[in-house]
Amino acid sequence: MKTIGILGGMTWESSVTYYRVVNEYISKSLGGLHSARCLLHSVDFEDIHETQVSGDWARAAELLSDAGCKLREAGADFLIIATNTMHIVAPEVEQATGLPLLHIADVTARRLVEDGIAKVGLLGTKITMEMDFYKDLLRDQGIATIVPDEADREDIDRIIMEELALGIIHEGSRRRYRTVIDSLAAQGARAVILGCTEIGLLIQQEHSALPVYDTALIHAEEAAKYALKD
Ligand code: GLU
Repeated sequence: MKTIGILGGMTWESSVTYYRVVNEYISKSLGGLHSARCLLHSVDFEDIHETQVSGDWARAAELLSDAGCKLREAGADFLIIATNTMHIVAPEVEQATGLPLLHIADVTARRLVEDGIAKVGLLGTKITMEMDFYKDLLRDQGIATIVPDEADREDIDRIIMEELALGIIHEGSRRRYRTVIDSLAAQGARAVILGCTEIGLLIQQEHSALPVYDTALIHAEEAAKYALKD
């Protein structure tokens, strides 16, 4: 079994999900008392958030590359970045560490392609919804993306940063997300990507009119699957 290097803490609320899912997958696959070989480097999210606010992606790349190199030195065989947004610096992290990196948008796109879905709604931070780094990867796999309108994007992002990142779950916020998902469906989306690793804490399949693709669950499962490959 390979050792998974998890770049986490972005936020720690969703790193908990990753830790649980990789272990559940390995336990189910191998039986007995097996569990995942993994290393978690959990950053101080305030440092990362500062780079997001200032758009200082060079600094973000430096922080995450440094953490990635520490994971490599500690014995990680490959890396996952346990957040969608910070995949903005995934190419730099992969290059600096020299380790294979399992990209969250790639593994999610693969699931969508397998399920024959070519048009999706994307929910995430404003950075993920508005910049191209994520949508371009989906497009490369033949998937068209619809994002919410500006007012909806503001609310989706605010609920992530002011509530979900702090472990706060409000019924009103769930209703707000449901309305946004309904509007994505009305615009022709066939599924919705929960393109922020905390959204699954608020929205599960029973809350959504569209099939849900929860990136934290998909990414963690695919990492565990990759760890078991020869
Ligand atoms: N975990 C979130 C994501 O998947 C947001 C935190 C961050 O900005 O890194 O994008």
